Amino acid sequence: MGYRHTPFFNLVELLKQDGCPFCRTVNAAGHRYLRTTLYEFVNDPSVRNQTAQSRGFCLQHADVLRALTDPLGVVLLHETLIHKLLRSASDAELFAAPEGICPACRYVEESLNLQLSTFVDNHDEPEIQQYLSTRPQICFPHLRQLAKRTRNKVLLRQLAAATRRQLEALDKKIHEFVAAENATLEQRSSPDLEGLAYVWLDCLQFFSGSVTSASEEKQP
Ligand SMILES: [Zn+2]
Ligand SMILES: [Zn+2]
Repeated sequence: MGYRHTPFFNLVELLKQDGCPFCRTVNAAGHRYLRTTLYEFVNDPSVRNQTAQSRGFCLQHADVLRALTDPLGVVLLHETLIHKLLRSASDAELFAAPEGICPACRYVEESLNLQLSTFVDNHDEPEIQQYLSTRPQICFPHLRQLAKRTRNKVLLRQLAAATRRQLEALDKKIHEFVAAENATLEQRSSPDLEGLAYVWLDCLQFFSGSVTSASEEKQP
């Protein structure tokens, strides 16, 4: 049994919601980091240096910054980067590879690592056991990350079973969807097709995870 503490209770809350709990953590942590940075740290030299080292924000976090709409904050965060590039002594230095990852990605990675370890360390707690035995919605990349983190055979077996259940459900839906797409028009009006309309989105969510927009962000 793991120690029941705040990260554990945060995780339990996430397990009650729809979709992959780890994708939720990734989205929420990115938003939280950028909101706090814009609010308090636009003049902080370490944040400005990190932004300079990473040569700006990644595409996903640039989208979050666009949605947060803080013109002055965004400009200030990029000032050190622009000065650094303008001071490059050579073309090679100007185009040199970034020295670090996007500062928001770095924070997200820490939050995700904590969440994944909390899940693995507490997997025998009743809340997690119940989640694993019902209908876990963890995406494939995060199932793989969980599997990589544990040597516990019981947990590995449960993760594999959860993965296979999701694959079988997808396979069944895809089969029905393709059959329905190939059917005649009168068969297409069958009400069963309704439930299949989102199978392509289910595929993308399972294999690539999901990104929520800034306005949807609620979780810790
Ligand atoms: Zn995920
Ligand atoms: Zn990023």
